[in-house]
Amino acid sequence: TEDILHRQDKLAAVGQLAAGVAHEIRNPLTSIKGYAEFLSMDETAKDRQEYFDIILEEIERVNSIVEEFMLLSKPTVSVLEKKPLLPIMDNVVSILDYQLRKNKIQLHRSYENPNFFVECDENKLKQVFLNFIKNAVEAMPNGGFIEIIVKKENDSISIVIKDSGIGMSKEQLKKLGEPFFTTKKDGNGLGLMVSFKIIENLNGKVYIESELGKGTSFHITLPAVD
Ligand code: ADP
Ligand code: MG
Repeated sequence: TEDILHRQDKLAAVGQLAAGVAHEIRNPLTSIKGYAEFLSMDETAKDRQEYFDIILEEIERVNSIVEEFMLLSKPTVSVLEKKPLLPIMDNVVSILDYQLRKNKIQLHRSYENPNFFVECDENKLKQVFLNFIKNAVEAMPNGGFIEIIVKKENDSISIVIKDSGIGMSKEQLKKLGEPFFTTKKDGNGLGLMVSFKIIENLNGKVYIESELGKGTSFHITLPAVD
């Protein structure tokens, strides 16, 4: 089993981040420009519809990058409130219900106590759980199991999201949280970066265990509130 501790200094690499953003946005912009120019020059092109579709897809790509970064830029103004944790988790699970069924994934929840409270911005914490569980789903193209365990550990709440998916190599594990690191065809590689940042803003921690071919667990701890 390979363990890594998520290092907060990954987010300090602002220059690298900016370069990455510029690069990721420039590619779709270049193709949008090219196809738009082509369409304006040749009004009768027979592949018109195909070019319009590419333009729309590329715009959607830029849009998803911008949306993730907007989430990142907001934490400082977000208002933290005392909230029950489990309804937040259950809401995320219900949002993903269709996807879980479609992918033949069984999800098991084990909650030690129904009354855990955390200080959080509810929508951001939902975003975090959604990102982690979606990644688990995407790691199991042929079905499998997800286990969500929530319990108290000293003054913290421990949340484990465990999947029986494809797992990760040591090299992959090291790159988690780096902007634009993705191994997926349609991935943007921003979900974990944003999620780690949100957890950090709640004074929480993330720890990841993974084994190729066996599965992955994300261990999240958040300060417990009485
Ligand atoms: P994306 O999902 O768009 O690729 P993320 O930041 O959410 O971006 O994840 C980055 C990468 O981390 C994924 O592409 C995948 O390689 C790896 N990863 C994350 N979660 C898991 C998981 N549960 N199992 C296997 N690989 C994972
Ligand atoms: Mg993801």
